[in-house]
Amino acid sequence: MVVAYPSPGTFLSSIYGDTTGRRGFDPYLADWSDSIKDDRGRVRLHKARCAFLEGPFDFGDITSAYKMWVACAEYGKINVKKDGVVLETIISKLPKRGNDIYRWKMKRRLGFLESLGDSHFFDPKDRNLHGAKTRMLFITLTWDPKTCDLETAWSGRKLEKVVGCPDNDPYNPSPRKGTKPENVGDHYQSHVKGCPCVSCRYNRFTTALRMKFGRVKIFRNFEAF
Ligand SMILES: [Zn+2]
Ligand SMILES: [Zn+2]
Repeated sequence: MVVAYPSPGTFLSSIYGDTTGRRGFDPYLADWSDSIKDDRGRVRLHKARCAFLEGPFDFGDITSAYKMWVACAEYGKINVKKDGVVLETIISKLPKRGNDIYRWKMKRRLGFLESLGDSHFFDPKDRNLHGAKTRMLFITLTWDPKTCDLETAWSGRKLEKVVGCPDNDPYNPSPRKGTKPENVGDHYQSHVKGCPCVSCRYNRFTTALRMKFGRVKIFRNFEAF
């Protein structure tokens, strides 16, 4: 469906059509692709995850689901406020890994590379008995599938936590400075300490790099399927 770029007054229904009223994951729909969409027909990760981990999806279906997700334009709304008064509402298409906005942002972020010319980062001849020096490393991380199952690797080991309650006891709040009082007592899901999932392990890896080497700039790139 092709629609004009939405304005602040555009209704969701004029972009995506009416709601189907379907919220939860239903694996028994006539069209499999409907199972992984929200009530407005937008592919959602948690539903695709359910279809894969608990339903009939295989890796090929996950690839198709990703392509459907990236092809669907979604928009964000930003209210520009001053002294609590909304001056302007801006609607902008959201970046999704692989879409046009994402590419544009990447180009803008990495545009400086083109001005570098042929920089000399590392010459194998610079090595000596004491080691080697370089300002840039290319690191390929791999995964040992024996360390946990696929569901844990993807979703993590979850723990229910309570906002502003360090012991997770809602009757014993001790919020840190900066916690919004209206959020204290809310429940949320967090990953356990030492969680073996991909993102937790990646975060521990980058934290360890920074503790050892100080300021490190990281440009992360995912291997395409
Ligand atoms: Zn589920
Ligand atoms: Zn985790």
